[in-house]
Amino acid sequence: MSAFAPAIAAILVSLAAAYFRVGLRVWTIAVAVAMVAAAWLAQSSPPAIGVSLVVFALIAVPLNLPEFRRRKLSAPLLAIFQKVTPKLSDTEQIALEAGTVGFEGELFSGKPDFSKLLKQPKPELSVEEQAFLDGPVEELCRMIDDWEITHERADLTPETWDFLKKKKFFGMIIPKEYGGLGFSALAHSAVLQKMAGMSTTLVSTVAVPNSLGPGELLVHYGTKEQKDHYLPRLADGREVPCFALTGPYAGSDATSIPDYGIVCKGEWNGANVVGVRLTFDKRYITLAPVATIVGLAFRMYDPEKMLGDVEDLGITLALLPRDTRGLEIGRRHFPLNVPFQNGPVRGKDVFVPLAQLIGGPDMAGQGWRMLVECLSVGRAISLPSNTAGGARSAVFATGAYARIRKQFGMPIGRFEGIEEALARIGGYTYAITALSRATAAAVDRGEKPAVPSAIAKYHATELAREIAKDAMDVHGGKGVILGPSNWIGRGWQGAPIAITVEGANIMTRSLMIFGQGAIRCHPYVLKEMQAARIADYRQRLKAFDAALFGHIGFAISNAVRSFVLGLTFARIGRAPGDAYTRRFYRKLTRYSAALALVADTSMLVLGGKLKFKEKLSARLGDVLSNLYIASAMLKRYEDGDRPATDHPLLAWAFHDSVWRMQMALDGVLRNFPVRPVAWLLRIMVFPFGRREVPPSDRLGRRVAALMTAPNEARDRLTDGIYKTPNPNNPVGRMNALLPDVILAEPVERKFLKAAKTGELKGYDYAAQLADAEAKGVLSAAECALLRRVRDASFEFISVDDFDSADLQAGRHPRPALRSVA
Ligand SMILES: Cc1cc2nc3c(=O)[nH]c(=O)nc-3n(C[C@H](O)[C@H](O)[C@H](O)COP(=O)(O)OP(=O)(O)OC[C@H]3O[C@@H](n4cnc5c(N)ncnc54)[C@H](O)[C@@H]3O)c2cc1C
Repeated sequence: MSAFAPAIAAILVSLAAAYFRVGLRVWTIAVAVAMVAAAWLAQSSPPAIGVSLVVFALIAVPLNLPEFRRRKLSAPLLAIFQKVTPKLSDTEQIALEAGTVGFEGELFSGKPDFSKLLKQPKPELSVEEQAFLDGPVEELCRMIDDWEITHERADLTPETWDFLKKKKFFGMIIPKEYGGLGFSALAHSAVLQKMAGMSTTLVSTVAVPNSLGPGELLVHYGTKEQKDHYLPRLADGREVPCFALTGPYAGSDATSIPDYGIVCKGEWNGANVVGVRLTFDKRYITLAPVATIVGLAFRMYDPEKMLGDVEDLGITLALLPRDTRGLEIGRRHFPLNVPFQNGPVRGKDVFVPLAQLIGGPDMAGQGWRMLVECLSVGRAISLPSNTAGGARSAVFATGAYARIRKQFGMPIGRFEGIEEALARIGGYTYAITALSRATAAAVDRGEKPAVPSAIAKYHATELAREIAKDAMDVHGGKGVILGPSNWIGRGWQGAPIAITVEGANIMTRSLMIFGQGAIRCHPYVLKEMQAARIADYRQRLKAFDAALFGHIGFAISNAVRSFVLGLTFARIGRAPGDAYTRRFYRKLTRYSAALALVADTSMLVLGGKLKFKEKLSARLGDVLSNLYIASAMLKRYEDGDRPATDHPLLAWAFHDSVWRMQMALDGVLRNFPVRPVAWLLRIMVFPFGRREVPPSDRLGRRVAALMTAPNEARDRLTDGIYKTPNPNNPVGRMNALLPDVILAEPVERKFLKAAKTGELKGYDYAAQLADAEAKGVLSAAECALLRRVRDASFEFISVDDFDSADLQAGRHPRPALRSVA
């Protein structure tokens, strides 16, 4: 045994070094010292010591001689790397380089430093922003009648349009110096959230000018003249913008737009100037029917080389005033009964001068870069906020309705089946709201969160669709029958819109989250790729060698960490948090190591093919996404000073997230094409098999209970939505009744018990209640309470009916089929 002591010591110290991720030098010294010490303690024979040290030296010395290592190891590996790494298209290159890496980079590291997350400042609104929410936004919500918007007008009212413009709702992201509101991302998000529960049409209308479009593009890339002219006009609504990228042949694959502009001379405002002659066919363009200025993406060509020697200049962006000759605009699409302004924009040989290119002639061909850079910011706010507001409103409405609506003598919220649906609504809302807050905070810290914004876009909208489905089920027929009394149906109808826009979800999950995340967030892959592109060979080899050996150490460390944390059920290691959440942080550390290991192995084994293995890529993206969502929830809990009353919500959402991570990893391993590699990975990732379970029924019951009664956790979960019990807000009024409904429950039970025994005379509720009062079964005050609650709740369980003629939609002639022009 003593002969093996040095080797055993070397292995143990190496494992510890890998687990704690020490550098090469420290590992070399630690192993050498451990071998000598072990040999001395075990009194190993000199030949045994000699053999062990020689083997160790053969490994350690070349690694510690940089010049030798580069020439003999890194150089051949660099040649292979350059051969197998897929060549990135310009478009992919731009997408990869746009944006910054924030805490998500830690999640890809296998050893996340949570102190970086917890040190981030707590996001807070300024006094001015809060005043805007309490003033104009509150007033706007009071003006909204969604039935009038969605059914009667198919548009916002003229008063609402005026109010939006006058109060600068379209100028939230425009700096104050140009007359905009210059709001933080958090405030922008809060405004959208407050409106979302009142009207999807309204929130879509306000979200678009504040997201990717002329306003944002001009702020970042506009020439001085363009900024001075357009930004003040966009801020106060004199100009209504839209942005036209999508067309019949280019949806998800937006870079393939066939729309083109030819550089030529033409007439503009009476002068003969150089410009572009544009031909385009765009569709689905939000606000286009009412827009006064169209942002247009097209491919620019200069066949006569009027601007230089390049003919195909690439994707370029221009601004087209509505009255530009040849611009066809004004017709409308009809998006799923949520009639925000949306329609086609077309034109043939439409001339605009070069001064109308966003950023001027210098930015010709830079359009895709501009779009991708801005997308990460807009996408971090619009849909995550919209869905967070919708989810909060679903909690507010569905929780109250499940208490007020009674069947089988009980509030329906008490039935276990409904409890399950309520728990999902509550848990997912906790997740979405934390996610939306995290991405808004990232933007406010100055990040361009390319990967988190894709995560937020996909997961917030997917979870919101689940919430909408559950909310519909809980409401039963009340949700199905449309009319002014239905507060849930339009949200359900419109859910697929959020899924489709700003990067359709299937593509976002399959292609973008992991595809971008793996390369952007990985501590070494991007460095290796960048190193391989350095022109000077010596510099290239040096940079590649540094990245490669960092990568190898990283991979070994992740394998060890994943295995050790799996073996110990992630119960070891330092973790922040309190007694309740410490185990959560440890679990995230475990899955971070597992993700890093499986992702690295997938990239190594599958190379460029991984890009086309969308199902594997999607699942790896799910792990990264759930790590990000769970971290966002923990940060929210810390920022809220660890409210114990949030425990059921946090725990439900956290266990759901971890369970999803496990199932996603399991899916990768089950479907990994190289089976022996998958078997090995399974041992490292799940040494004891899949042990995570979804949130328990008991936990779900606690979440459901929180949602169906007024309490501080529910207040936090529904914070920031429009709750005022005004005539236009039945959900606000229903919630105002909730305390009385709860007070009446024991009285009602007493009453129903007496009615069941047959001791009360009468055939209906009113008669039996009068008899209960007469017989002293209930006091006069108790009877008055029951009457009041029953009368007041009737409105909330009622649905609308219409005269048959009123339902006919005869005013809509069928549009003619389009034929190819
Ligand atoms: C209501 C509404 C408003 C919109 N507003 C605007 C706007 O203001 N301006 C604008 O320019 N555009 C706008 N769009 C366009 C929107 O961005 C596109 O609809 C979206 O990009 C998807 O394109 P598509 O609908 O043609 O779907 P397609 O590209 O045809 O995709 C169909 C399906 O295939 C999936 N898919 C495509 N490629 C892949 C892939 N590689 N891997 C896996 N799955 C894939 C998609 O995820 C989707 O599920 C709007 C769309 C709608 C519906």
